[in-house]
Amino acid sequence: SKAPIAIIGTGIAGLSAARTLHDAGQAVHLFDKSRGSGGRMASKRSDAGSLDLGAQYFTARDRRFAETVRQWQAGGWVDQWTPTLFQSRDGQLSPSADEQLRWVGTPTMSAITRGLLGEMPVTFSCRITEVFRGEQYWTLVDATGASHGPFSHVVIALPAPQAAALLSGAPKLAAVAASVAMEPTWAVALGFATPLGTALEGCFVQDDALDWIARNRSKPGRDGALDTWVLHATSSWSRQHLDLSKEAVIERLHGAFAELIDCVVPAPEFTLAHRWLYARPAQAHEWTALADAGLGLYACGDWCLSGRVEGAWLSGQEAARRLLENL
Ligand code: FAD
Ligand code: NAD
Repeated sequence: SKAPIAIIGTGIAGLSAARTLHDAGQAVHLFDKSRGSGGRMASKRSDAGSLDLGAQYFTARDRRFAETVRQWQAGGWVDQWTPTLFQSRDGQLSPSADEQLRWVGTPTMSAITRGLLGEMPVTFSCRITEVFRGEQYWTLVDATGASHGPFSHVVIALPAPQAAALLSGAPKLAAVAASVAMEPTWAVALGFATPLGTALEGCFVQDDALDWIARNRSKPGRDGALDTWVLHATSSWSRQHLDLSKEAVIERLHGAFAELIDCVVPAPEFTLAHRWLYARPAQAHEWTALADAGLGLYACGDWCLSGRVEGAWLSGQEAARRLLENL
């Protein structure tokens, strides 16, 4: 029988590609270094329940993506989130309602990638360190030195710097991926025993340290005893404080939060910090996906487009389309 297609990365880009290839009758095998799917749109289990520490919500501006999101909604994987929105500029907090539709996975962000993965074959906790082509087929090598293969094609669906490292088989593609700068984001979660006395559920911040605040528990399907919040630092603050300890990051962002919000902020019952090293591309691009059809090597991810969930999904669609076109 024919060798399957390898897909490295089970974030939304890799799963978007995998689903389309699988539905077109192709055999696929997925790999991820993490213990589960989702990548930057995964949710993290914690003592304070499941928390969205990466992607907070997503919007659908592309018609195809909007249709797909409606299907996800019909399947019970996503729901609308209608937060009471604020913004904060120059230390001034003000309501900032709008008409934008915003979507979240239910009951957690991970529901989407878990749903897409379905029964497709996958190897988790497997960091791929090398991708090379023999006369006819591709072989992958993981961090333990074990090899996987043979594969007919490889789709690399990782953040640009990690993709560049695996694209040495196609130096032109590797150079494109290596040209993409990705910015970090420090994320902090706080949990309070008594709900904070504010109506605020989401806040766009223009500040030195903070970029975004969300009341995690205000999203559909999230329960749990504590009033949980997620704070995101700006790219520049995160870059400047890349090596700060988690304790210090929590203290600094908790302080900025307490200063910004219009209510008393007691000491949190629960805290957690997570550093996203490759959170977002420094700028948007219009590659959609990268391909060397002759070699059978493809790359996709949010950095090929808009640096958002929608961009990552569209990029995966394009990688799959081009691969199928070249079979
Ligand atoms: P990823 O999700 O990064 O997937 C890559 C996968 O590859 C990961 O699962 C990783 O474990 C795996 N991997 C990496 N290296 C290897 C290797 N060598 N071998 C095997 N596996 C490997 N977008 C929005 O639309 N709205 C938002 O509100 C939003 N907020 C965000 C907030 C933060 C803090 C962050 C970090 C991102 C946010 N985003 C948001 C962006 C969104 O999360 C991403 O654009 C999208 O999830 C990227 O998907 P991807 O599949 O391209 O990459
Ligand atoms: P969106 O349309 O809700 O927001 C886009 C941007 O418009 C916001 O960042 C904000 O600056 C502004 N905005 C939107 N509604 C506003 C309101 N009611 N009041 C004030 N300002 C408002 O969503 P999108 O275009 O899908 O973008 C996704 C969000 O994800 C953005 O906020 C982006 O910053 C964030 N994101 C963060 C990271 C990270 O690493 N931290 C990575 C990717 C995306």
